[in-house]
Amino acid sequence: MDKKTYHVVLVGYGGMGSYHGQLIAPVDQIEVSGVYDVVPYRMELAEAAGYKAYDSLDAVLADESVDVVLVATPNDVHKEISIRALKAGKHVICEKPVTINSADLLEIVEAAKEADRIFTVHQNRRWDEDFLIVKHMVETKQIGDVFHLESRVQGANGIPGDWRQLKAYGGGMLLDWGVHLLDQLLLLTDSRIDSVTAELSGILGTEVDDGFSAHIRFKDELTAVIEVGTTNYLTLPRWYVKGTEGTAVIRDWELNGEIVRSNPDVARVEPKPIQAGQGLTKTMAPPSEESTLHLPIEKAPVPAQSFYENFVAALEGKSSQLVKSDEVHRVLRLIETIFEAAEKREVLKNLDL
Ligand code: NAD
Repeated sequence: MDKKTYHVVLVGYGGMGSYHGQLIAPVDQIEVSGVYDVVPYRMELAEAAGYKAYDSLDAVLADESVDVVLVATPNDVHKEISIRALKAGKHVICEKPVTINSADLLEIVEAAKEADRIFTVHQNRRWDEDFLIVKHMVETKQIGDVFHLESRVQGANGIPGDWRQLKAYGGGMLLDWGVHLLDQLLLLTDSRIDSVTAELSGILGTEVDDGFSAHIRFKDELTAVIEVGTTNYLTLPRWYVKGTEGTAVIRDWELNGEIVRSNPDVARVEPKPIQAGQGLTKTMAPPSEESTLHLPIEKAPVPAQSFYENFVAALEGKSSQLVKSDEVHRVLRLIETIFEAAEKREVLKNLDL
């Protein structure tokens, strides 16, 4: 029997919508057949790329040959487009942040349940190599039990000068990059969250945050610092991870970094005092070379399925979907908690989130 090919229409053909065309092209059993965008010029580009241009969302939804709607518009209209598409019997992939608040997501989930269609969110950074390396490091106890994690992305280019600067569109860096880093964090532990404290950055004078810093403590005592910055001319490492046996750093997207850990075959050697500024210190001397190992950052196993391979397998009933609505909902609740902690300037405790 011939395998079915699933036809996708990209709704929103800007930076990310057009990128989905590239992501889908190499995947078996799925192809982009058309595009709908509110801006005529974007439709011309879509036609030039060989896609059918629809003149309205209604026309997309009325077309029975369309199996999947991919929502890659600004964040404020994700909910409305997703629910309309589900009600029309389409499966839906929505860009992140799926919605601007967690209550809106529940309405989409309800619509998907009623329509018996698949709804998933493009949390693509679950497949990022740096994240997979840290996940592997935690799981294999490469540096012992991890008790503290710092995950950051920083740039000096400000917020892009579009809808991302506006509240009504779901702009701001917490919803933009924050949703990726927090989604990754929640996949690194099974523990619930106990407390959150946070600060939003408002250096650029936009009506939305231009970055943030969140300190998160889990019930199992794991602590995490998650930071996004758009005013950083020099950047801190992408990851800084502390375990009971060592420390790991991944500096950048090129995966430069290292692991320094205790050597299990050598008894600990007392460090010698060093000159530090105008004094001597043993406490802050580097660990003795004899009893430590310097290891490179090693590649982690690659997931068996890409985002789109998993999506097709889920459509075919062969796999469960990897990005689940309850996971995405938890991330949105955490984002809301971070906004609240920042606004109140308080540590929000005993959360069970
Ligand atoms: P963009 O501004 O480049 O593109 C958005 C497009 O949507 C524009 O062409 C606009 O004309 C169109 N549009 C606006 N309202 C519409 C509507 N009601 N119906 C149809 N089209 C409409 O923005 P972008 O950078 O492509 O971001 C789009 C979405 O993708 C956002 O949700 C963003 O957060 C997400 N995104 C995800 C990633 C990722 O790595 N997963 C990266 C970038 C952007």
